[in-house]
Amino acid sequence: MNSYLPKATHVAVREGKILGVGNLDQLSGWGEHSLNTRFADKVLMPGFVEGHCHAPEGQIWDHTYLGYFERYDPEGNLHPKLENMDNVLERLRHVDENMDDDDAPLFAWGFDPIYYNSERMTVKDLDSVSKTRCIIIMHTSGHLLNVNSLVLERAGIDSSTDVHGIFKDEEGKPTGELISMATHYIIQKVAGMPFFNSMDSRGLWRFSAIARRAGVTTATDLAASFDRDTLAAYREVTSKKEFPLRIVPAMRIQEMPIQEGIEKIKELVQSNSEKLHFGLCKIIADGSIQGYTARLKWPGYFKSSHEGAWYVPPETLIKMIDAYHSESIQLHIHTNGDEATEVTIGAIESALSNKPHSDHRHTLQHCQMAEEAHFRRMAKLGICANLFANHIFYWGDQHLEQTMGPDRAVRMDAAATAKRNGVNFSIHSDAPVTPLGPLFTAWCAANRQTASGRILGEHEKISVEDALRAITIGAAYTLKLDHLLGSIESGKFADFAVLEENPYEIPQEYLKDVKVWGTIHSGIPYPAE
Ligand SMILES: [Zn+2]
Repeated sequence: MNSYLPKATHVAVREGKILGVGNLDQLSGWGEHSLNTRFADKVLMPGFVEGHCHAPEGQIWDHTYLGYFERYDPEGNLHPKLENMDNVLERLRHVDENMDDDDAPLFAWGFDPIYYNSERMTVKDLDSVSKTRCIIIMHTSGHLLNVNSLVLERAGIDSSTDVHGIFKDEEGKPTGELISMATHYIIQKVAGMPFFNSMDSRGLWRFSAIARRAGVTTATDLAASFDRDTLAAYREVTSKKEFPLRIVPAMRIQEMPIQEGIEKIKELVQSNSEKLHFGLCKIIADGSIQGYTARLKWPGYFKSSHEGAWYVPPETLIKMIDAYHSESIQLHIHTNGDEATEVTIGAIESALSNKPHSDHRHTLQHCQMAEEAHFRRMAKLGICANLFANHIFYWGDQHLEQTMGPDRAVRMDAAATAKRNGVNFSIHSDAPVTPLGPLFTAWCAANRQTASGRILGEHEKISVEDALRAITIGAAYTLKLDHLLGSIESGKFADFAVLEENPYEIPQEYLKDVKVWGTIHSGIPYPAE
């Protein structure tokens, strides 16, 4: 990613930074040195940068994984895929039987009925696992919960409860499916809700273990509440010499008064260190496409009459963007649907006319349904895109068949169009929504293959070179850290992804299979031996 020296045999490191790049002879000019040949048969790339993930990927593994796809936990154990609802219930039964404390609630996550022909899970299903232990399941999207009858009983939810977001069957009885903040709050009070807890140090260490295994040396925590415990945990781990990750947290600002948010982020930036970079603020404008909560322009969803949801009403969104922008604070804004993208571009355009800024780097996160006209405006206005390339594999089939239809599905996460129009872009996993793994994400953008094996949008494929740029210097650019990391260049941090194979020398369909040995962070190899 170093334009002057795209390839080299040696790199010199001093005090955690890159001293020089070249061959041994050239680098020897720096004086006395020790030569480390440990990685002579490996390939060093700049450490990967995950521009959109969430640190709870570390602690969510304290709870049972219920995903349709197999997945590795922070300790490297593989959790096999659950192919149908029976498999899901079997795993829950197994966990229930092996829990020591009979009164402890069973929490599980990663469930997504869209893979089971949208068959709904009910109270009856979960009661067949246990009627004496509270069971709470969070769907992959994070927006829906399923609970058993004991939880409903303790929460006082029955046929007569009139709270928005309680699903009921034909007889008016609650099905155990709950979908609103109001219902989640009730459940949190009676059974707890560990998914929304603040981060602790142990969770961040586990997050760093997942990152190391994926070659990631810098990762965002892209919508944290910045409560006292979370801030203390960030500081604690990043002050440790042996913590192998730079964290770039973004403050979730939509629930805060604007002035308070502006003051808080300005104060936090003062305490930035080499491994902890405050500065970003995050707004979530709309919902998710597979949950039918993304805001779409006409003609809307393909096989549904849902209208989508604004998580922030457009008037408020426009006001917030203008206020933060006028203080030169960088915004990362989640926009999934094309209407949300359009409104946000308009809001940034008007904020820019109120206060010009030549290098704001506001970034549209996900930006999945942007059309070419949007990318043209984004390029003009200096707006970056961080595209959700993993979506193509995980939900591409569902988008083609159910949510978007064949024509609009092919333009999802349009990396080739972004590049052609000169938009600075990155690609991401949104872990824990999909697993952290930039090489897999790059594979998605280069191959655009869905889980069923179809190619979704031949014309939006990008080259391996561009995909690898997107997970290194491209992501660093969206975080305003490209002067410090993202390429192997003199003066930058000595952060490397250590690979067993050269991703430039294999057929691009194998990009996801390149083995990651580990990372080197600030010049220190992980794992150590
Ligand atoms: Zn996210």
